[in-house]
Amino acid sequence: MRKRVLAALLALLLGVAAAGRPAHAEKTSGVGYYFDTVITLTLYDAEPGLLDELWAMCKGYEELLSKTVEGSDVDRINRAEGVPVAVSAETMEILRTARAVHDASGGAFSITLAPVIALWDFTGGTNRMPTEQELAETLPLVDDSRIVLGDDGTVTLPAGMQIDLGGIAKGYIADKGAALARGRCTGAVLNFGGNVYTVGRKPDGSGFNVGIRDPQGPEGSSKYVLRTQDGTVVTSGIYERYFELDSVRYHHILDPKTGVSSMSDLASATVVCGSSMLADAVATACIVLGCRDALVLLNSLELDGLLITRDGEAYVTPDFIEKWQLRSV
Ligand code: ADP
Ligand code: MG
Repeated sequence: MRKRVLAALLALLLGVAAAGRPAHAEKTSGVGYYFDTVITLTLYDAEPGLLDELWAMCKGYEELLSKTVEGSDVDRINRAEGVPVAVSAETMEILRTARAVHDASGGAFSITLAPVIALWDFTGGTNRMPTEQELAETLPLVDDSRIVLGDDGTVTLPAGMQIDLGGIAKGYIADKGAALARGRCTGAVLNFGGNVYTVGRKPDGSGFNVGIRDPQGPEGSSKYVLRTQDGTVVTSGIYERYFELDSVRYHHILDPKTGVSSMSDLASATVVCGSSMLADAVATACIVLGCRDALVLLNSLELDGLLITRDGEAYVTPDFIEKWQLRSV
């Protein structure tokens, strides 16, 4: 936890401190912990109360989308035993995007991985690995195409299956945070643990610098920096939550085909666009797909991406470097 807070503070410094001359902007910022993640919010010349509203929004979405909060939409879907559940329009919007990315990625992104995720422990220090039998029993429950998203606002999940929005929810919340902040401050950097959304401009009128972590480097280190104004930069990486056994890294992004951490050649995937929700899901899918197929997916969705392989090689979609002023650090 301490390390994460440190990393978040470093990311915050990278994102906002290089602001050049300090114009007359009043800066408000805070660090919070929601969705199992450190969240750092920085606002320039914000309306009074905006920061509090953003924290209240985080709390509200945690209560709606967390698998572990009793009575959340996700909890109710998971406990319904095959009965249709009425959900909020917001949950439905996320589920529809999850389905679209699932389909576009050939199932690399699958929210029905939840029962398999429950077999692992990436952060608790137990280094628990599922047995082959456990995997054989739970893998048949991974199939997003069996989630029925009704036009009447209900969701039906076959009994025994479970969903987990960990690969997409933070992106949705980042989008909502940006929408809340837009027009009510001159600039904002909203960092939802790897999902960064910048709004407006820095006090000196320029865009924001966002650091892309070096997957091989220590927490908080950056390999590249890019520049955004109003938009999101989302990175998924195999360095986030993991343990190592017999020189194999088991990390928190699972391959839905095997139920085991993705063994693809990618160490991180960054997507830059206007929708943090879409970018979040696509970045996760890219890690599973591996460099070659990830580039195909990004191109098919017309999304800008930066992929870093386990060997430290970087690949970008066309025009990425110029468009986002990418530079090494
Ligand atoms: P982070 O949460 O670190 O930003 P991601 O956005 O890549 O990283 O999401 C990883 C989380 O998504 C995991 O902790 C798990 O809850 C869930 N997940 C793991 N593998 C997949 C997958 N293949 N498809 C969809 N969700 C996944
Ligand atoms: Mg994701």
